[in-house]
Amino acid sequence: MFGETLVELKSVHKSYQLGKMLTPALRGVNLKLNAGDFTAVVGSSGSGKSTLLNMVGCIDVPDSGEVLLQGRSILSLNDNEKSALRNEKIGFIFQTFNLIPVLNVYENVDLPLTIQDQLDKNMRAQRVYEALDRVGLMEFQKHLPDQLSGGQRQRVAIARALVTKPSLVLADEPTANLDSVTAHKIIDLMLDINSRTEVTFLFSTHDEKLMGRVKNVIRIQDGLIV
Ligand code: ADP
Ligand code: MG
Repeated sequence: MFGETLVELKSVHKSYQLGKMLTPALRGVNLKLNAGDFTAVVGSSGSGKSTLLNMVGCIDVPDSGEVLLQGRSILSLNDNEKSALRNEKIGFIFQTFNLIPVLNVYENVDLPLTIQDQLDKNMRAQRVYEALDRVGLMEFQKHLPDQLSGGQRQRVAIARALVTKPSLVLADEPTANLDSVTAHKIIDLMLDINSRTEVTFLFSTHDEKLMGRVKNVIRIQDGLIV
Protein backbone atom coordinates (compact mmCIF):
# COMPACT_ATOMS: atom_id res chain seq x y z
CA MET A 1 0.00 0.00 0.00
CA PHE A 2 1.08 3.56 -0.76
CA GLY A 3 3.16 5.07 2.05
CA GLU A 4 3.83 1.80 3.86
CA THR A 5 7.39 0.69 4.49
CA LEU A 6 8.44 -1.43 1.54
CA VAL A 7 12.15 -1.91 2.13
CA GLU A 8 14.22 -1.61 5.25
CA LEU A 9 17.95 -2.10 5.68
CA LYS A 10 19.29 -2.31 9.21
CA SER A 11 23.00 -1.96 9.81
CA VAL A 12 23.91 -3.81 6.61
CA HIS A 13 27.55 -4.79 6.22
CA LYS A 14 28.99 -6.41 3.11
CA SER A 15 32.59 -7.08 2.15
CA TYR A 16 34.09 -8.81 -0.85
CA GLN A 17 37.04 -11.15 -0.61
CA LEU A 18 39.51 -10.80 -3.46
CA GLY A 19 42.40 -13.15 -2.82
CA LYS A 20 43.69 -12.14 0.60
CA MET A 21 42.15 -8.68 0.41
CA LEU A 22 38.84 -7.99 2.09
CA THR A 23 37.15 -4.97 0.50
CA PRO A 24 34.35 -3.42 2.51
CA ALA A 25 31.54 -2.37 0.17
CA LEU A 26 28.85 -1.48 2.74
CA ARG A 27 29.81 -0.54 6.30
CA GLY A 28 26.59 -0.37 8.28
CA VAL A 29 23.86 1.00 6.05
CA ASN A 30 20.41 1.90 7.36
CA LEU A 31 17.71 2.71 4.86
CA LYS A 32 13.94 2.84 4.68
CA LEU A 33 11.87 3.13 1.51
CA ASN A 34 8.13 3.62 1.52
CA ALA A 35 5.80 2.36 -1.16
CA GLY A 36 5.54 4.98 -3.89
CA ASP A 37 8.90 6.64 -3.14
CA PHE A 38 11.24 7.75 -5.90
CA THR A 39 14.74 7.75 -4.46
CA ALA A 40 18.16 8.36 -5.95
CA VAL A 41 21.35 6.86 -4.51
CA VAL A 42 24.18 9.16 -5.47
CA GLY A 43 27.85 8.39 -5.05
CA SER A 44 31.11 8.12 -6.95
CA SER A 45 32.34 4.95 -8.58
CA GLY A 46 33.17 2.31 -5.96
CA SER A 47 31.11 3.94 -3.21
CA GLY A 48 28.82 0.91 -2.86
CA LYS A 49 25.78 1.80 -4.98
CA SER A 50 25.54 -1.49 -6.87
CA THR A 51 26.15 -3.49 -3.71
CA LEU A 52 23.34 -1.59 -2.01
CA LEU A 53 20.93 -2.20 -4.89
CA ASN A 54 21.92 -5.87 -4.99
CA MET A 55 21.02 -6.18 -1.30
CA VAL A 56 17.64 -4.56 -1.85
CA GLY A 57 17.05 -6.72 -4.93
CA CYS A 58 17.90 -10.00 -3.16
CA ILE A 59 20.68 -10.61 -5.66
CA ASP A 60 23.12 -10.82 -2.77
CA VAL A 61 22.80 -11.12 1.01
CA PRO A 62 24.54 -9.09 3.72
CA ASP A 63 27.37 -10.42 5.90
CA SER A 64 25.55 -8.94 8.86
CA GLY A 65 22.53 -6.75 9.43
CA GLU A 66 19.06 -7.18 8.03
CA VAL A 67 17.22 -6.60 4.77
CA LEU A 68 13.45 -6.56 5.13
CA LEU A 69 11.07 -6.54 2.17
CA GLN A 70 7.48 -5.84 3.17
CA GLY A 71 8.51 -6.73 6.69
CA ARG A 72 10.04 -10.11 5.77
CA SER A 73 13.72 -10.75 6.30
CA ILE A 74 15.37 -11.96 3.09
CA LEU A 75 17.75 -14.04 5.20
CA SER A 76 14.76 -16.22 6.10
CA LEU A 77 14.11 -17.08 2.44
CA ASN A 78 15.59 -20.02 0.55
CA ASP A 79 16.91 -19.63 -3.01
CA ASN A 80 13.60 -20.56 -4.65
CA GLU A 81 11.70 -18.09 -2.52
CA LYS A 82 14.23 -15.38 -3.33
CA SER A 83 13.95 -16.08 -7.08
CA ALA A 84 10.16 -15.91 -6.90
CA LEU A 85 10.33 -12.66 -4.94
CA ARG A 86 12.73 -11.14 -7.49
CA ASN A 87 10.58 -12.22 -10.41
CA GLU A 88 7.23 -11.15 -8.97
CA LYS A 89 7.97 -8.10 -6.85
CA ILE A 90 11.08 -6.45 -8.31
CA GLY A 91 11.93 -5.06 -11.71
CA PHE A 92 15.57 -4.49 -12.67
CA ILE A 93 17.09 -1.89 -15.00
CA PHE A 94 20.82 -1.86 -15.74
CA GLN A 95 23.41 0.53 -17.09
CA THR A 96 24.08 -1.67 -20.12
CA PHE A 97 20.37 -2.40 -20.75
CA ASN A 98 20.96 -6.19 -20.69
CA LEU A 99 18.57 -6.99 -23.52
CA ILE A 100 18.77 -10.34 -25.31
CA PRO A 101 20.17 -9.47 -28.76
CA VAL A 102 18.43 -12.28 -30.69
CA LEU A 103 14.99 -11.46 -29.26
CA ASN A 104 12.90 -8.62 -30.62
CA VAL A 105 11.47 -5.85 -28.45
CA TYR A 106 8.21 -7.69 -27.80
CA GLU A 107 10.02 -10.90 -26.85
CA ASN A 108 12.46 -9.10 -24.56
CA VAL A 109 9.60 -7.49 -22.65
CA ASP A 110 7.68 -10.80 -22.49
CA LEU A 111 10.67 -12.65 -21.03
CA PRO A 112 9.98 -12.17 -17.28
CA LEU A 113 6.43 -13.44 -17.86
CA THR A 114 7.61 -16.69 -19.41
CA ILE A 115 8.64 -17.87 -15.94
CA GLN A 116 5.32 -16.98 -14.37
CA ASP A 117 2.80 -19.74 -15.01
CA GLN A 118 -0.34 -18.06 -13.70
CA LEU A 119 -0.94 -15.87 -16.77
CA ASP A 120 -2.58 -17.22 -19.92
CA LYS A 121 -1.44 -16.22 -23.39
CA ASN A 122 -3.91 -13.38 -23.86
CA MET A 123 -3.20 -11.89 -20.46
CA ARG A 124 0.49 -12.02 -21.18
CA ALA A 125 0.12 -10.25 -24.51
CA GLN A 126 -2.02 -7.61 -22.85
CA ARG A 127 0.67 -7.02 -20.22
CA VAL A 128 3.41 -6.71 -22.84
CA TYR A 129 1.39 -4.25 -24.94
CA GLU A 130 0.52 -2.21 -21.88
CA ALA A 131 4.22 -1.98 -20.92
CA LEU A 132 5.29 -1.12 -24.50
CA ASP A 133 2.63 1.54 -24.68
CA ARG A 134 3.75 3.04 -21.37
CA VAL A 135 7.29 3.57 -22.69
CA GLY A 136 6.12 4.68 -26.14
CA LEU A 137 7.56 1.80 -28.13
CA MET A 138 4.47 0.14 -29.56
CA GLU A 139 5.58 0.57 -33.16
CA PHE A 140 9.04 -0.86 -32.44
CA GLN A 141 7.86 -4.23 -31.13
CA LYS A 142 9.39 -6.22 -34.02
CA HIS A 143 12.76 -4.45 -33.88
CA LEU A 144 15.87 -6.13 -32.56
CA PRO A 145 17.84 -4.30 -29.85
CA ASP A 146 20.68 -3.37 -32.20
CA GLN A 147 18.19 -1.56 -34.45
CA LEU A 148 17.41 0.85 -31.62
CA SER A 149 19.12 3.87 -30.06
CA GLY A 150 20.48 3.70 -26.52
CA GLY A 151 17.51 5.62 -25.16
CA GLN A 152 15.08 3.29 -26.92
CA ARG A 153 16.93 0.25 -25.58
CA GLN A 154 16.63 1.59 -22.06
CA ARG A 155 12.91 2.11 -22.66
CA VAL A 156 12.63 -1.55 -23.60
CA ALA A 157 14.41 -2.42 -20.36
CA ILE A 158 11.97 -0.22 -18.43
CA ALA A 159 9.03 -1.97 -20.10
CA ARG A 160 10.58 -5.34 -19.22
CA ALA A 161 10.97 -4.20 -15.60
CA LEU A 162 7.32 -3.14 -15.42
CA VAL A 163 5.67 -6.05 -17.20
CA THR A 164 5.36 -8.18 -14.06
CA LYS A 165 3.70 -5.27 -12.22
CA PRO A 166 6.40 -5.15 -9.53
CA SER A 167 6.19 -3.24 -6.26
CA LEU A 168 9.76 -2.00 -6.67
CA VAL A 169 11.95 -1.06 -9.61
CA LEU A 170 15.72 -0.99 -9.07
CA ALA A 171 17.73 0.90 -11.68
CA ASP A 172 21.51 0.72 -11.34
CA GLU A 173 23.00 3.73 -13.16
CA PRO A 174 20.33 3.51 -15.87
CA THR A 175 21.53 6.69 -17.56
CA ALA A 176 25.30 6.19 -17.43
CA ASN A 177 25.51 5.02 -21.05
CA LEU A 178 23.25 7.77 -22.41
CA ASP A 179 23.86 11.35 -23.52
CA SER A 180 22.53 13.95 -21.09
CA VAL A 181 19.39 14.86 -23.08
CA THR A 182 18.40 11.19 -23.31
CA ALA A 183 19.35 10.66 -19.66
CA HIS A 184 16.91 13.37 -18.59
CA LYS A 185 14.19 11.83 -20.78
CA ILE A 186 14.70 8.46 -19.10
CA ILE A 187 14.43 10.11 -15.66
CA ASP A 188 11.26 11.91 -16.88
CA LEU A 189 9.80 8.60 -17.96
CA MET A 190 10.59 6.91 -14.65
CA LEU A 191 9.16 9.87 -12.71
CA ASP A 192 6.02 9.77 -14.84
CA ILE A 193 5.56 6.03 -14.28
CA ASN A 194 6.16 6.52 -10.56
CA SER A 195 3.51 9.22 -10.29
CA ARG A 196 0.93 7.31 -12.35
CA THR A 197 1.40 3.85 -10.91
CA GLU A 198 2.88 4.36 -7.44
CA VAL A 199 5.58 1.81 -8.25
CA THR A 200 8.53 2.49 -5.94
CA PHE A 201 11.78 3.42 -7.69
CA LEU A 202 15.31 3.24 -6.36
CA PHE A 203 17.92 4.33 -8.85
CA SER A 204 21.62 4.97 -8.58
CA THR A 205 23.76 7.51 -10.36
CA HIS A 206 27.16 9.13 -10.12
CA ASP A 207 25.82 12.12 -12.06
CA GLU A 208 25.27 15.09 -9.75
CA LYS A 209 23.25 16.87 -12.47
CA LEU A 210 20.50 14.26 -12.33
CA MET A 211 20.05 14.63 -8.59
CA GLY A 212 18.10 17.87 -8.87
CA ARG A 213 15.32 15.94 -10.53
CA VAL A 214 14.59 13.85 -7.47
CA LYS A 215 13.18 14.77 -4.06
CA ASN A 216 14.65 11.87 -2.08
CA VAL A 217 18.40 11.73 -2.45
CA ILE A 218 20.65 9.39 -0.51
CA ARG A 219 24.35 10.03 -0.65
CA ILE A 220 26.72 7.14 -0.28
CA GLN A 221 30.44 7.40 0.28
CA ASP A 222 32.88 4.56 1.06
CA GLY A 223 30.03 2.20 1.91
CA LEU A 224 28.31 4.60 4.29
CA ILE A 225 25.26 6.79 3.84
CA VAL A 226 26.33 10.38 4.55
P1 ADP B 1 29.54 1.40 -7.15
O1 ADP B 1 28.38 0.66 -7.74
O2 ADP B 1 29.14 2.61 -6.37
O3 ADP B 1 30.57 1.72 -8.16
P2 ADP B 1 30.15 -1.16 -5.90
O4 ADP B 1 29.02 -1.49 -5.01
O5 ADP B 1 30.18 -1.83 -7.22
O6 ADP B 1 30.23 0.43 -6.07
O7 ADP B 1 31.52 -1.48 -5.17
C1 ADP B 1 31.81 -1.10 -3.84
C2 ADP B 1 33.19 -1.64 -3.47
O8 ADP B 1 33.16 -3.06 -3.46
C3 ADP B 1 34.28 -1.26 -4.44
O9 ADP B 1 35.47 -1.06 -3.72
C4 ADP B 1 34.40 -2.47 -5.34
O10 ADP B 1 35.68 -2.59 -5.87
C5 ADP B 1 34.08 -3.60 -4.39
N1 ADP B 1 33.41 -4.74 -5.07
C6 ADP B 1 32.17 -4.71 -5.61
N2 ADP B 1 31.85 -5.92 -6.12
C7 ADP B 1 32.92 -6.72 -5.90
C8 ADP B 1 33.21 -8.11 -6.19
N3 ADP B 1 32.33 -8.90 -6.79
N4 ADP B 1 34.43 -8.57 -5.80
C9 ADP B 1 35.32 -7.78 -5.17
N5 ADP B 1 35.10 -6.49 -4.86
C10 ADP B 1 33.93 -5.96 -5.23
MG1 MG C 1 27.90 0.23 -9.69
